[in-house]
Amino acid sequence: MNVPFLDLKQQYGAIKDEIDAVLQEVINTCAFAGGPMTKKFESQFAPFCGCESAIGCGSGTEALWLALIGLGVGPGDEVITTPSTFIATSEAISFCGATPVFVDVVESTCNMNPALVEAAITPKTKAIIPVHLYGQMADMDPLMDIAAKHNLAVVEDACQAHGATYKGRRAGSIGNAGCFSFYPGKNLGAYGEAGAVVTSDEQLAETMATFRDHGQAKKYFHNIVGWNSRMDGFQGAVLGVKMKYIETWTRQRQENAALYAELLADIEGIETPMVIDGAESVYHLYVIQTDSRDELQAYLRENGIQTGLHYPIPLHLQEAYKSLGYKAGGFPVAEIAAKRILSLPMYPELREGQIRYVGEKIGDFFKKA
Ligand SMILES: *Cc1c(COP(=O)(O)O)cnc(C)c1O
Repeated sequence: MNVPFLDLKQQYGAIKDEIDAVLQEVINTCAFAGGPMTKKFESQFAPFCGCESAIGCGSGTEALWLALIGLGVGPGDEVITTPSTFIATSEAISFCGATPVFVDVVESTCNMNPALVEAAITPKTKAIIPVHLYGQMADMDPLMDIAAKHNLAVVEDACQAHGATYKGRRAGSIGNAGCFSFYPGKNLGAYGEAGAVVTSDEQLAETMATFRDHGQAKKYFHNIVGWNSRMDGFQGAVLGVKMKYIETWTRQRQENAALYAELLADIEGIETPMVIDGAESVYHLYVIQTDSRDELQAYLRENGIQTGLHYPIPLHLQEAYKSLGYKAGGFPVAEIAAKRILSLPMYPELREGQIRYVGEKIGDFFKKA
């Protein structure tokens, strides 16, 4: 049996008629940049996140950058995040002219460890970016307490956490702003590149909306020096259709995760994903941890099962950030996790038979070992 890591074609097949119709409508109306369909999507996505506004933009990377710019982060500032994330998180910090400052993660979730944040705060610190990795929100209560105490902004990197909750509140609604990616493989995926920032801070929403449209409040009247970060019209149209299905797809991911957990529960040698009290994961990824990661990955590959590594090298050890001066051993939890994590196939359309086959092959591997 073959179990691909991701299968975007299947989803398209299920909603083809609706997608084709809205794409044709974009062409008919020539609303290619921004336009009514992206506006409509923004008006759907904000309440989905429990926020007042959503500002659509070009990508998740740009959403993070837009939020930091909107909050006034600039040269000389420091922004705290974790090394266990996709590099876009820290790129956004670097491209404001600020410096990323890393703190280590919690072993069981790979999310920011709130107990380590205060030690990383300096007079230059302006903001904290907790990353809701794999679809589970970071432990936000202690992080918000620390931010309030030190007068810091909080930008949630919710690029993997569309619809995830923490104590009943949705990803993106707890910090000053929440940033989402609609990269095709994300839980809510466009047919190209797209992203959005959500917020309930009216002033911040206005600043970001103006900035992403060349700093103009009215055509050719530029109040600030901005940038072109508008959302593509086709992407707004596709995402608008997909909003009808996101809750169902999330439930299917959660059911798939529950079946994985059941099948893998008794296998010695692996840890299945841990969800903290009060949180609900939307399982962007289903990440197990094991000391025999490389051997298991090779065995699964031989048996037709594709897996992934998210992410193999923590950011502080990336060549791109050599100049920050971090050393191996600096963030031991993140470094050990990077060697033990393995992402199993996870998407709504995954069939029960495929999940059972993955479970069986993982069982076989550890029986042999
Ligand atoms: C995907 C992702 C991003 C970047 O989103 P793009 O749309 O690819 O620019 C940022 N942070 C995290 C955690 C992501 O998973």
